[in-house]
Amino acid sequence: MSLYDLEIAQWKQLLSAEPSYRADQIWQAIHKHAIRPEHLTSIPKQLRDSIAKTADLAPALSLVNLYTDDNELTEKALFKLDDQRVLETVLMHYSDRSTVCISSQAGCAMGCKFCATGQQGFYRHLTTGEIVEQVAWAISRTRTKRGSRRLTNVVFMGMGEPLANTKNLFKALQRINVDIGIGARHITVSTVGIIPGIRRFGKLNQQYNLAISLHAANNEKRTSLVPITRTYPLEALLEVLADYRRTTNRRISFEWAMMDGINDSDQDARELIAICVPLQAHVNLIPLNPTPKWPGSGSPMARVRSFSRILEMAGIVTSIRDNRGTKIAAACGQLAETHVTLGGDEGLFAAGSAKMDLSGLLD
Ligand code: SAH
Ligand code: SF4
Repeated sequence: MSLYDLEIAQWKQLLSAEPSYRADQIWQAIHKHAIRPEHLTSIPKQLRDSIAKTADLAPALSLVNLYTDDNELTEKALFKLDDQRVLETVLMHYSDRSTVCISSQAGCAMGCKFCATGQQGFYRHLTTGEIVEQVAWAISRTRTKRGSRRLTNVVFMGMGEPLANTKNLFKALQRINVDIGIGARHITVSTVGIIPGIRRFGKLNQQYNLAISLHAANNEKRTSLVPITRTYPLEALLEVLADYRRTTNRRISFEWAMMDGINDSDQDARELIAICVPLQAHVNLIPLNPTPKWPGSGSPMARVRSFSRILEMAGIVTSIRDNRGTKIAAACGQLAETHVTLGGDEGLFAAGSAKMDLSGLLD
């Protein structure tokens, strides 16, 4: 239990001896303004002190290190959790927006070969409070570092597979949207393609964005990069995405990490087009970032651009993601526990093992 894990009803119960507005006052402060209760001068000092002394109301994240890159426009925070696990949160400022990239799990069980988090294995799901607190950190950091700037966007593209942790994810989404006040269209959940999770996500019937990390458009190639394809083959994934498109009327986007000589040929582009057209999907090309256990490299920029042109000529809206934070290993797929040794034992689940038994790994 931590500060952001408590529900409003629990706050009300906890503060039942206080005036009835007190719980709402604290709730608003920690969500809308990202102010910790002990810094809230509008509540009595005695209450502030007693909240500060209550272990279950302590923040879940303690900052271990802060790295900056891109002229301080990109910052990566390394947080330690109370069980010594670490997680990373990346804050990126652009001319028109500030986006935080947050983690949903400590580690990841999906074992994608080219991803630093996947190479490391799975430790545990993050709680709702641990997810929400990352956003609160970003709000407060944006405010202190960049004047009155507001955090505008939240993307679940940090460590972990959000749709393997749907219970905590959905509660966190609601908090970020309703209580913190970030519009659903400014919140993106990225998934490797967990079919039951996508179905549940669709049933929320909200305006959140869904991004699918595709990387290859046939089963054989995708399995070699993204082993979960064995459990959720492309045909089944595309069927559930078509359903999602029909019932929510939301477009999806596909993420495609461009790997030199692996998934960047004209033929790869044609296969991707065939998948995108019926879904009216957009494509996000990410030049592959280097990770410790993957020998391949990113496609040359000229290749990324020509791949993008082929897609665009077929009418697919395509963007090339700019490569933020590569120097501080804060870029896509580079997030891992490599910077500190805090425990340092192996993940509970060996990364990328051939047979994926998902029991206990999906919530
Ligand atoms: N587990 C979720 C969200 C976190 S990964 C998912 O896979 O979608 C966020 C994005 O970074 C995904 O699109 C992922 O495929 C991509 N990614 C992983 N490793 C990468 C790397 N080395 N270079 C570029 N992108 C990478
Ligand atoms: Fe997990 Fe996403 Fe990395 Fe795959 S790409 S291992 S799903 S974090």
